[in-house]
Amino acid sequence: MDLNYTPEDEAFRSRIRSWFEQHRPKPPETLAERKAWQRTLYEAGFVGMGWPREYGGQSARPMEQAIVAEEMALANVPGPINSLGIGIVGPTLIVHGTEQQKQRYIRPILTADEIWCQLYSEPDAGSDLAGLKTRAVRQNGEYIVNGQKVWTSLGPVADYGILLARTDPDVPKHKGISYFILDMHSPGVEVRPLKQITGNSEFAEVFFDNVRVPAENIIGQEGQGWELAQTTLGFERGGSVLARVTRHQANLRRLAEVCGTLSRNGVPLLEDPLIRQRLGRMAVEVEVLRYTGYRILGKLEKGQRPGSESSVDKLYYSELDKRHQELVQEILGPYGQLEHGLPPELDLNAAPTRGHDSTWAFNFLWSRAGTIYSGSNEIQKNIVGERVLKLPREPRADRVASREA
Ligand SMILES: Cc1cc2nc3c(=O)[nH]c(=O)nc-3n(C[C@H](O)[C@H](O)[C@H](O)COP(=O)(O)OP(=O)(O)OC[C@H]3O[C@@H](n4cnc5c(N)ncnc54)[C@H](O)[C@@H]3O)c2cc1C
Repeated sequence: MDLNYTPEDEAFRSRIRSWFEQHRPKPPETLAERKAWQRTLYEAGFVGMGWPREYGGQSARPMEQAIVAEEMALANVPGPINSLGIGIVGPTLIVHGTEQQKQRYIRPILTADEIWCQLYSEPDAGSDLAGLKTRAVRQNGEYIVNGQKVWTSLGPVADYGILLARTDPDVPKHKGISYFILDMHSPGVEVRPLKQITGNSEFAEVFFDNVRVPAENIIGQEGQGWELAQTTLGFERGGSVLARVTRHQANLRRLAEVCGTLSRNGVPLLEDPLIRQRLGRMAVEVEVLRYTGYRILGKLEKGQRPGSESSVDKLYYSELDKRHQELVQEILGPYGQLEHGLPPELDLNAAPTRGHDSTWAFNFLWSRAGTIYSGSNEIQKNIVGERVLKLPREPRADRVASREA
């Protein structure tokens, strides 16, 4: 592929860059502020960019989407809060929803008037998602739902969820699952926030006790849920790789600045050959990530869907993030673990370009998550082994099939 940006892409980039220079928000903290920021992004045309115009999108090319994501990362502004609504729910409704469902639900996803969550994983059904046990039983024009979900991102603030539930326990497990829109404010829905090691509670366990879901809230046909979930998992991966590169570069630049201030035995860390080697190596690894991103973007630009190579990408970016954050901790020592009170010369956010965001400590703790969500890295390795390297399938093939996209 041609790795150069076209003059049109460069012109687009400079328009986007100046927009973000003029619209840097104060760090949105409350839910209302985060929703308002998404609305600002939407009105500027940066939310649901790839969606068709008739559904509120811009029909934007993957390259334009990637440029906006990169510029957002460079400006260090937060993304839209309704990430699952935009990344998964909207695209699923556009492809599989009825006209009525599209009219009702799509616009409030873009404007953040309604926040969505993804109700897939259960205590005994994560990698083996098809083993889910939450039941939906049809009775008099509605479904009665009982069961439990876990690791529901945005669960504590969600208005709606996309729910996978078993409608037929008597057929092979992949065939008895259906896909529903669930109103999170329905009687019988209990959301229990989960506190994470970062101290935040963005996740929840969600319990269903005889929750009534109108029959028209099914997406697709009864029993088609597995097929639909595969489409949605497909939307979940790939795409934003170049924005990751930008964030890694910004953090690495800041780490190098901090190494210029910190010294050991009177010598600035930046002059220590070992530290220089480690920083240099990380810079190279981030460049490798860039080319992985170009490979995916190249496919998307040609109208192709990235296949198993998105598993290679997922493995690489999540392991790279862990290595990067571990390097930060090794270099900063105890300073790297402080959430508050770091002197400005050591603080991740004190650089003039960094308005909000997180801390070294938060980034380190959060980096574990990437190896688990969207299909754990062991599952990705199975996919790479079987589909890319064409190794024999693992004996428990039904488990591996579960979280693939
Ligand atoms: C940050 C984050 C956000 C998430 N958000 C959501 C959400 O919004 N909605 C939602 O539904 N879920 C969400 N999840 C859940 C996520 O999808 C699951 O955690 C994931 O699929 C793994 O399932 P599990 O936790 O049950 O682990 P398990 O499947 O029990 O796996 C445990 C360990 O065994 C390994 N393993 C399992 N099967 C195999 C195999 N066949 N071969 C080799 N190794 C194997 C796994 O890699 C893992 O190391 C989120 C998770 C995280 C970390």
